[in-house]
Amino acid sequence: MIKVCGLTDNASSRLVAEISGITHLGFIFYEGSKRFTTTSFDTTKKKVGVFVNASVAYIKERVALHKLDVLQLHGSESPDFIRQLPEGFKIIKAFGIATEADLEATKAYENLVDYFLFDTKSERHGGTGIVFNWHILDNYNGNTPFILSGGIGPDSAQALQEFSHPKLAGYDLNSRFEVAPKEKDPTAIANFLKVLKMKTPSYLDTDALGFYGEFGGAYVPELLRPNVEELDAAFNAYCFTESFETDYKQLLKDFVGRPTPLYFAGRLSEKYGATIYLKREDLCHTGAHKVNNTVGQILLAKHMGKTNIIAETGAGQHGVATATVCALMGLNCIVYMGEKDIERQAPNVQRMKMLGAEVKPATSGSKTLKDATNEAIRHWINHPDSYYLIGSVVGPHPYPKIVAYFQSVISKEMEQQLLEKTGKTYPNKVIACVGGGSNAAGAFYQYYDNPEVELVAVEAAGLGINSGKSAATSVLGTPGVLHGSLTLLMQDEDGQVTEPHSISAGLDYPGIGPLHAHTIATGRATSIAITDDEALASALELSLLEGIIPALESAHALSALSKMELKKEDIIVVNLSGRGDKDMNTYMEKFSNL
Ligand SMILES: *Cc1c(COP(=O)(O)O)cnc(C)c1O
Repeated sequence: MIKVCGLTDNASSRLVAEISGITHLGFIFYEGSKRFTTTSFDTTKKKVGVFVNASVAYIKERVALHKLDVLQLHGSESPDFIRQLPEGFKIIKAFGIATEADLEATKAYENLVDYFLFDTKSERHGGTGIVFNWHILDNYNGNTPFILSGGIGPDSAQALQEFSHPKLAGYDLNSRFEVAPKEKDPTAIANFLKVLKMKTPSYLDTDALGFYGEFGGAYVPELLRPNVEELDAAFNAYCFTESFETDYKQLLKDFVGRPTPLYFAGRLSEKYGATIYLKREDLCHTGAHKVNNTVGQILLAKHMGKTNIIAETGAGQHGVATATVCALMGLNCIVYMGEKDIERQAPNVQRMKMLGAEVKPATSGSKTLKDATNEAIRHWINHPDSYYLIGSVVGPHPYPKIVAYFQSVISKEMEQQLLEKTGKTYPNKVIACVGGGSNAAGAFYQYYDNPEVELVAVEAAGLGINSGKSAATSVLGTPGVLHGSLTLLMQDEDGQVTEPHSISAGLDYPGIGPLHAHTIATGRATSIAITDDEALASALELSLLEGIIPALESAHALSALSKMELKKEDIIVVNLSGRGDKDMNTYMEKFSNL
């Protein structure tokens, strides 16, 4: 959150509202302030009303008049007073901080407000332009996120970089960015944000143990610890060199067929009342985005001197993408696959065999993906010299980071293509389906730290979220360890992984990658669940409206369009992760009436 406070309806305030990166605009409705305002203006940013010991009636009146989104209470408002405020607004409670003892007062407001705001203590209720000792906040161990305020100025970027706290949610900029009260200096603010941006942590950062916030890590047997450490070191040392870049880009271009088009879907746009683009990952070699990752990892494996590649696959899509790049490089390939899946997915088994891979059946448990994963990990333990090629943003650190990076080509191309088509590098929303989450991570990658882009992760609700037959992990999941990382997964009370269900094999997975668990848990990404029937309807709709038969997974992402309120000027990108060829059997059965 970057909030600029003390605005009014004047030219400099309106310029501030245009600055990219600013998320909240503050209007002060307290007569005692030099920045008191009776006016505001319409904006796409969140509008914050700032009050000091005002009455509920006055607050309600300002809310209605100025269409406020957030209420900031800057006086001595009591918890009881806050309970009387109208519902449906985010609430910020401000506290003046001079010593550690001032933090005591926050306790009564835990679970009552959305944010605390820590400001320099003064008689004047803020706007002093004076900095307090932020390190007092090292002693703050409450649960409520906080906004740092008080004297942040054009010269503060360095100091802000040096101050971090797990609950720090944003910054409040006010008097030091103006030439006179209410006359903001938009250039100074824009410049400051540029410097700050380079220094603020990213959603894509992991800590030293490989955690994105609460999720991630590397839960592997001790025997495999050197393997994941070696992989991390090799990735960091090799994948950012010119030599890697050259080889990777060449293969993406000539072998995979990139860049994939960003296609303006005119008839779909008309139907949903927005400007809708499809990122055409369905046009990649092998029919989906998965090959972006396997091409990257096979170069890495080769660089590490590995000759034996192992992988697991559910429906066979990742198995085919892996077998493809092993053939390309002349490396040995073993793909573990549940016995039941081998029967169900005969064409993909045949493809893998034609590409020279050995398909090994997993015969334990339910004989599906999770059993294949167990077999692959067992193989890895017995043959630690082999390279384990994981197909989504799942598994122990550093795999989620590596796979997300290799898929980031999707949003890197999108930036360029959007700029050409719309004059801006980013859309209002990016929509992608989430099995493990690799196509979504790739489509979101460049936008994680741009709060103006809404990230929509679409999961499979199967027969319905409460039907017992779904894969809606972000709704039904609880934290647990799956496939080597701590993430959200569907499990019963004893921690047994629940068998997922989705009509689309690629979404039929009981977990989601830790990066998605983190962004959904923190509210950065929104999740939507789509049923089998809804996805089928969207697959047919896209076929009829645009002449594109999508994969069932991608059809889930398309279905999200009908679940959102869209505006005509909204620019939406749907990541069309794959083509429908592999789903023809399902389509033949479900649309036999056509
Ligand atoms: C495998 C697959 C998915 C799901 O995998 P993610 O890692 O979540 O992207 C989605 N779409 C298609 C076409 C797939 O083949």
